[in-house]
Amino acid sequence: MREHRCTPTKTLVASAYAAFLARRAGDYGVTIGGPVGVDMRAVKARKDTITVASRRGVERSLRTLEGCTVYEGHARFVANNKVAVNGVEFGADRIFINVGGRASIPPISGLDQVPYFTNSSMMDIDFLPPHLIVLGGSYIGLEFAQAYRRFGSEVTVIELAPRLIAREDEDASHAVADFLKEEGIDVRVDSKVIGVEKQGNSIAVKLESAGKISQVVGTHMLVAIGRRPNTDDLGLDNAGVATDSHGYIQVDDQLRTNVPGIWAMGDCNGRGAFTHTSWNDFEIVAANILDNEQRRVSDRITAYALYTDPPLARAGMTQEEVRKTGKPALVSTMALEDVSRAYETCGPSRRVRTLSRWHRGGVSSARSERWKAARSKGFMKILADRDSKRILGASLLGLAGDEIIHCIIDLMYAKAPYTVMQRAMHIHPTVSEFLPIMMQDFRPLQ
Ligand SMILES: Cc1cc2nc3c(=O)[nH]c(=O)nc-3n(C[C@H](O)[C@H](O)[C@H](O)COP(=O)(O)OP(=O)(O)OC[C@H]3O[C@@H](n4cnc5c(N)ncnc54)[C@H](O)[C@@H]3O)c2cc1C
Repeated sequence: MREHRCTPTKTLVASAYAAFLARRAGDYGVTIGGPVGVDMRAVKARKDTITVASRRGVERSLRTLEGCTVYEGHARFVANNKVAVNGVEFGADRIFINVGGRASIPPISGLDQVPYFTNSSMMDIDFLPPHLIVLGGSYIGLEFAQAYRRFGSEVTVIELAPRLIAREDEDASHAVADFLKEEGIDVRVDSKVIGVEKQGNSIAVKLESAGKISQVVGTHMLVAIGRRPNTDDLGLDNAGVATDSHGYIQVDDQLRTNVPGIWAMGDCNGRGAFTHTSWNDFEIVAANILDNEQRRVSDRITAYALYTDPPLARAGMTQEEVRKTGKPALVSTMALEDVSRAYETCGPSRRVRTLSRWHRGGVSSARSERWKAARSKGFMKILADRDSKRILGASLLGLAGDEIIHCIIDLMYAKAPYTVMQRAMHIHPTVSEFLPIMMQDFRPLQ
């Protein structure tokens, strides 16, 4: 099952990118007759076509799989080896729990009195919210925030932590905040939501920041403050399956629960929150049971991407995590501005003119027609162990970072020293061609 939530959100991100690029067409010498419009019904229809095709493909493969019967309904344990669906009980000596998670709704005063979207209901809208307030400045919230800004909404992001995507290094948080602000997104960090209320047709969000109270008024709101596992209505007590205080099913390194014969995979075990970690869980369990292998979760390397444009791709440890190990380490960085392929693809931009038209709906003045310097945004950062010369982690924020990161991930899986890549000849002109150069440019991490 590999359709998940990635497919619909990435189709939205792709539509938003098309709108963004169309508005920048003039920067590339391409003429578009008239202002760029976004038809949200068509955006949704495209998303539905792609998502439905993907879902149907998965469903067909399961329904035609020999020995597999699909039952639709809410499953609950009635004993440690028995599950009931729609009143029918099924006994089994091996049970695999793969129930995923859902949006977590915070206990904010007034939230039950106002309409709001979650990541699921957000997929069903076919109109443009005039002003979308996004609660939560992390991975899910930021993807939606940028996409809807590009569709044409006013967007305000409210984040409790002092910076966006607070699990990342500060440089990444600030760079992402900078390009979102440049696109006209109102980013409020260090802001605690103390209440929400309806004001006519609008929603007012009360904030407390640095001891001061303020208010943001929007037309629609997305709650994207995190996710919780779907384990609260699963009858786990009847099976004796243990969870932690957040409801995640406790598993060992091979994804076995405390009850023999029951495994937990995917988002519900708290060991990952991505489609690829969920898939990797399945591979681990299948290899251990069917092929008599000894695969373990702890063998995998952290890897994920934030699908803003440009994307932030991550592998292994952050700089802060490397520092915390206390071991001598090296760091190499490069700005995407210095990468010719990124400049050729993304810059330069008549940004000021584009923004004034786009945001204010007005006509640009001659003075604002100046070309702005390269807008090949982002940077690449690679961290290595000084003594073993192995890569410890990387953050690639920039054009195609989500693809390029796999050069780093594979080097890490090979347990090879960075010197291997120093001498690799990469293709010009690509962003990846700078990786061997970065491997020659390590300096001590302070
Ligand atoms: C907006 C958004 C964007 C995302 N983007 C990405 C991305 O770009 N890349 C990425 O890797 N990950 C992304 N993710 C995360 C990814 O969707 C999840 O990590 C992944 O879907 C987890 O897979 P899973 O199999 O564990 O659970 P799920 O995909 O959640 O599947 C669990 C299934 O179990 C069903 N279920 C639940 N309880 C029961 C029950 N009691 N009985 C029967 N069925 C039940 C659910 O209805 C669901 O169909 C995104 C998530 C969100 C919300």
